[in-house]
Amino acid sequence: MKVAVIGGGIAGAELIRDASPGPLEFTLIEPKKQIEMQALYPEYLGGVARLQDLAAPLKPFCERVGAKHVQEKAIALEGKTVICEQSRVDFDYVVIATGAAQNYFGIKGVENTFSINTLEETKKARRFVEDNYPERIMIMGSGLTGVEAASILAESLDASIYIIEARERVLPLFSPQTSAMVEKALSKKGVNILTSTQVAEVKKDCIMFTDDSCLDCDMAIWTAGVKPSPFIQDLDLPKKNGWILVDPNLQAKENVFAIGDCAWIEVDGKLATRTGLEAERQAKHLARNLTHLAEGKPMEKYSVRASTDSQVALISLGADCAVGVVGKTCIGVPTRLIYSLKSWIDKSFIKRFK
Ligand SMILES: Cc1cc2nc3c(=O)[nH]c(=O)nc-3n(C[C@H](O)[C@H](O)[C@H](O)COP(=O)(O)OP(=O)(O)OC[C@H]3O[C@@H](n4cnc5c(N)ncnc54)[C@H](O)[C@@H]3O)c2cc1C
Repeated sequence: MKVAVIGGGIAGAELIRDASPGPLEFTLIEPKKQIEMQALYPEYLGGVARLQDLAAPLKPFCERVGAKHVQEKAIALEGKTVICEQSRVDFDYVVIATGAAQNYFGIKGVENTFSINTLEETKKARRFVEDNYPERIMIMGSGLTGVEAASILAESLDASIYIIEARERVLPLFSPQTSAMVEKALSKKGVNILTSTQVAEVKKDCIMFTDDSCLDCDMAIWTAGVKPSPFIQDLDLPKKNGWILVDPNLQAKENVFAIGDCAWIEVDGKLATRTGLEAERQAKHLARNLTHLAEGKPMEKYSVRASTDSQVALISLGADCAVGVVGKTCIGVPTRLIYSLKSWIDKSFIKRFK
């Protein structure tokens, strides 16, 4: 059974690793040479994580598991063929796992911001920090990426760090208890927190807000939100808010599955979060279901673990400090142990592919 996997991030690569060896013949379509661990980008930005901790080359991994790597971007689906930049890949089943793109919500001056949504962009931001020693850094957005970046920069640089959030508290998608604990930790590190503050425009040396006030800055980092990639937007598949809508078997339509950040996964009223934890679980589940299909067995329904109304996460707040979140409960001690656990999980994920 030929399975084409589009995207070799956490979801796509883990699916192939988990299903191998087995009855499935995989082709991985991924333009990058390596699998990358986004959860470690904030630490790379802060100069704590090394490149070898957060990436693993795909060539030896694919050779080891017997998968073919087509190092190109997928452009379209035509029947049972993926059209790539230069080649075509035929499949019996295709799995779309192309992640998400940064969403700038139409603000002006995007070209004056840095992003840490991809490794290339994170490297650019790190180089800017090393070459320019920015003294005032504005981080826009206070989701997981924003608070992790603010903490690590506050700890590793002699600079004023600001975190800007349009809603009334940091980590607005988490419980108020989690937000309060994280705000306290950020303040202790000297991070300036501006909530209920909306960015209108990012200029080269300042940020303009919707109430016409402005703040000078030497570096602006945008972390506020993601959206479906252009590839997803152009596919003729069921969608919800632009994301690929899948059923409880993670299936969008006959022969087409979607997992990870690119998918809208809602099972029994629980909407999956766009996290590495969920991407990895979905990959493992689909690996089992595809193997069942090859063996003529029925597929099993997926169950969401980390949902938008009951988050599960480990949030690092600088080197040696992290908190754990399970539903409405936020566990803040022992911070060092939680940090070690998070660091071990993130780094050991990449090690599996080496
Ligand atoms: C800075 C940051 C920190 C994070 N921290 C955490 C954390 O601490 N804990 C946690 O659980 N989650 C965290 N996340 C979220 C987590 O990283 C994502 O949910 C996870 O990576 C999603 O996996 P994915 O495979 O769906 O997408 P990705 O890992 O983004 O992989 C998508 C892959 O698809 C490829 N691709 C895209 N378009 C195409 C195309 N047209 N053709 C072929 N390939 C394509 C890309 O090159 C990429 O390799 C973080 C995210 C960021 C950005």
